[in-house]
Amino acid sequence: MSFTDLVPDPDALEQIAAGSTWAEGPCWIPATRTLRWSDIPGDRILQWHADTGAVDTYADGVEFTNGRTLDRDGSVVQCSHGLRRVERDRDGVVSPVVDAFDGVRFNSPNDVVVARDGSVWFTDPAYGITQPREGHPGEREYGDHWVFRCGPDGEGLRPVAVDLDEPNGLAFDPTEAVLYIASSSGEEPVIRAYDRVDGPLGDRLKNGRVFARLEPGEGAPDGIRVDVHGNVWSSSHRGVVVFDPAGVRLGEIAVPETVANLCFGGDDGTTLFLAATTSVYRIATTTTDAAAVS
Ligand code: MG
Repeated sequence: MSFTDLVPDPDALEQIAAGSTWAEGPCWIPATRTLRWSDIPGDRILQWHADTGAVDTYADGVEFTNGRTLDRDGSVVQCSHGLRRVERDRDGVVSPVVDAFDGVRFNSPNDVVVARDGSVWFTDPAYGITQPREGHPGEREYGDHWVFRCGPDGEGLRPVAVDLDEPNGLAFDPTEAVLYIASSSGEEPVIRAYDRVDGPLGDRLKNGRVFARLEPGEGAPDGIRVDVHGNVWSSSHRGVVVFDPAGVRLGEIAVPETVANLCFGGDDGTTLFLAATTSVYRIATTTTDAAAVS
């Protein structure tokens, strides 16, 4: 599969929203035909309406939400820097999924995915407690930056990856046998891959290895997505980089602003939406998200 099979016109990038401070956490909401995203320093959630092209505020004073994903039941699971938790938005009513591990608080959950079995997997770097405009200053209460997994209501919480300096975006491959995790550390700006294996105490991650690296000048990966073919789509400081399932670079989409995160959406799921600093962009692709709710 070539890059132009996936993105027929890489130059056909369209800005659909401006005016964010730092756009993150894009998520297509099929029921309302809206794209929802976080403006983290603006402490608000914005939305773009596919019907009209209008942009408005979905909610403000939201405690610095970051990444989000659609759950099977249509609710939205999202990360809260300010409340140091993962939470669920069901029709505008927000409630916690999980807010502590073994008696201590998380750092600032950054990005989240929900597996087909309903389990919730999220990364916990410290940007929301170290960057004053992204949350509230605070301590690393367990002293590290881990990746956690819990059940749909927060049950069975446990760390599943403890070997990344700064875990950030994450996404399963189409079989959910592999979890990709972006490492945003300046020391090692890579996407790592882990095998998800089951055992008597439940699933866990093993065999962590480097899947792909960005090139000099592309910065560190933040949000990532996987398409139905298993290709990995990564944010970069220059746009979007696409890797095949073996980690071979297929091509790039050039974007005039640093891309923090991305998602597939639109009515047929083939539009790629990019949360890129002050703007949100869209571009047509020929594929859809491996995790798309159907
Ligand atoms: Mg992130």
